[in-house]
Amino acid sequence: MENVWKKYKDEDINRLSEICDDYRKFLSISKIEREVIKNSILIAEQRGFVDLNTYIKENKKLEVGDKIYVNNRNKSLALFVIGREDITNGINILGAHVDSPRLDLKANPLYEENEFAYLDTHYYGGIKKYQWVTIPLALHGVVVKKNGEVMDVVIGEDERDPVIGITDLLPHLGKEQMKKEASVVIEGEGLDVLIGSMPCEETEEDSKKEDLVKRNILNILKNKYNMDEDDFLSAEIEVVPAGRARDFGLDRSMIMAYGQDDKVCAYSSLRAFLDCPTCDKTISCILVDKEEIGSVGATGMCSTFYENALLEICNLLGHPENVALARCLSNSYMLSSDVNAAYDPLYSDVMDKRNASYFNQGVVFCKYTGSRGKSGSNDANAEYVAKLRNIMDRNSVYFQISELGKVDAGGGGTIAYILANKNVNVIDCGVGVLSMHAPWEVTAKADIYEAYKCYIAFLKEA
Ligand code: MN
Ligand code: MN
Repeated sequence: MENVWKKYKDEDINRLSEICDDYRKFLSISKIEREVIKNSILIAEQRGFVDLNTYIKENKKLEVGDKIYVNNRNKSLALFVIGREDITNGINILGAHVDSPRLDLKANPLYEENEFAYLDTHYYGGIKKYQWVTIPLALHGVVVKKNGEVMDVVIGEDERDPVIGITDLLPHLGKEQMKKEASVVIEGEGLDVLIGSMPCEETEEDSKKEDLVKRNILNILKNKYNMDEDDFLSAEIEVVPAGRARDFGLDRSMIMAYGQDDKVCAYSSLRAFLDCPTCDKTISCILVDKEEIGSVGATGMCSTFYENALLEICNLLGHPENVALARCLSNSYMLSSDVNAAYDPLYSDVMDKRNASYFNQGVVFCKYTGSRGKSGSNDANAEYVAKLRNIMDRNSVYFQISELGKVDAGGGGTIAYILANKNVNVIDCGVGVLSMHAPWEVTAKADIYEAYKCYIAFLKEA
């Protein structure tokens, strides 16, 4: 394989830069699943997409070219453009997840210790805990008041905002700490975020003069968000690295950002889907939550929300019978778009060089993921892989086929198996990442561009 930069003409480089600039901007304001879904709906509505519920309420029939979206609890989204062919012939689906590893606030997070105020956290997804200390962190999420009022919280992203963070021990006193295994150098209960050190003024009627620092923080939250300590009970606040997505490398060939697993695939899928003209087949894009903890729950891919949406769509197309949905699913194709561990020369011992994915060699297909004996993997059919090779070559999309690391080195899963279990043809397909699951992950712009090209070719021709 050759580095794809060598093959690019000026128009490729211009298009690549345009898409990657937009991606960086999108990432910087879409760090958590709720923000991705909110911003995706905004873009989709600008392009003429309408909430499926409007059709359902008015029992309005769907027609060729109609653009609809289904918002599942502000954390997952399914979009559809109705094609010219009957839906029972199957649809072409792009699916990616929008949640990323992070620290969630516990239900009772706020406490004071030695005149420091802290937020107690519970980590979400697979993280190396030691990577989360001594970096600037931000708070993103929502507080829902008892009356149902939802307040968006973002602190730490504006230049004028303060940041917060987790402290580490100085090396001078770290002799015992440095003997520990990396998995316990920093432990889960040690990931408490320092958020304040200034006491509030004591009032006359103050009988107990304790927790003044914590009370000062509560005053700040009251002023800014009209929030009481109890309101943490019905909040979802995530602690994520503070700061924008950046060009990476002196040649600007890469992007460094938080949460590129899997927003790099989510953004390129959404962008390709929206840029795709009406096709023969109905096309769909799924942006889904909870992949990092097993795709569980109402907003994860294992939920029936996507199937239910398809059932509603079949109904509005004049196919109320269940058999229509069954036929639609069995005839459908999907790219489960998720990131792949790109070859890193600094960690070559866990990679199989002949079956690894490489930066700047294009979009990555992964016939199977899983761990050990392919456990938990979706193993795509050779016939489907052949069909895709053909589509990619016809559309001059540069691609590579890889595994995730050496056979016994570990492994991982994606959402691929879930729709495959519904009898959809599914293969894993995505962008290579360095430092995956670290606070700041790195991707290659050329691979993002090839993923975008791949998704458009797939939607049109699968
Ligand atoms: Mn992923
Ligand atoms: Mn992941």
